[in-house]
Amino acid sequence: MSIADNLAFIRSGLPENVTLVAVSKTMPADKILEAYNAGQRIFGENRVQELLAKKPLLPEDIEWHFIGHLQTNKVRYVVPAASLIHSADSLKLISAINAEAKKTGIISEILIQVRIAREETKFGMDPADVPSVAADYVKGAFGNITLRGLMGMATLTGDNDQVRKEFTFLSEIFNDLKKDIFAGDPRFNILSMGMSDDHHIAVEAGSTMVRIGSSVFGHREYN
Ligand SMILES: *Cc1c(COP(=O)(O)O)cnc(C)c1O
Repeated sequence: MSIADNLAFIRSGLPENVTLVAVSKTMPADKILEAYNAGQRIFGENRVQELLAKKPLLPEDIEWHFIGHLQTNKVRYVVPAASLIHSADSLKLISAINAEAKKTGIISEILIQVRIAREETKFGMDPADVPSVAADYVKGAFGNITLRGLMGMATLTGDNDQVRKEFTFLSEIFNDLKKDIFAGDPRFNILSMGMSDDHHIAVEAGSTMVRIGSSVFGHREYN
């Protein structure tokens, strides 16, 4: 199966309101161009250096999403390069993104990454802390950020019930915020959840954006 076939197959299984982010981490520019030529325009990268190296090699109308853990000292590189940062996972990081966006003279679009998985190693904001950050945002604490929604990663497990429980939990937080805090703000409308192996469950639970790598490009080889 070619990358174009893979993309067509994945898209055919997604509802129309769900956006596909092709996760191109570790993939060389020619593979990304192959996906681009098949109509894909949104790509996800999780390492700052890799994003900065690939972006100039590829068409300018690509939307690059940053999906990896972001350290505050790398924020200044990511803010001008990424059209959406999925992985804002602390107040400190959100403040740093806001400050950098202000300095650059742009508005950065972000998602708050929420910790929903059982694994201790997964990054993300504690779910209990999300409402107060969202409330600060709505009060105008971050003038150079648009908070577009939430992102989460489920536990890596074959236990589909567990995965469904975690995605449903995040979906409920998203819907509660939408109703209680963002009432009337149509920009808070992205729920980023679901990867190659669990995106069907994520979509059933209300995902509006899936991040899919290996099912598009094939298996990654890390060095
Ligand atoms: C790698 C990665 C993905 C895609 O994973 P696949 O299993 O290859 O689809 C999605 N989200 C994040 C944050 C990732 O790092």
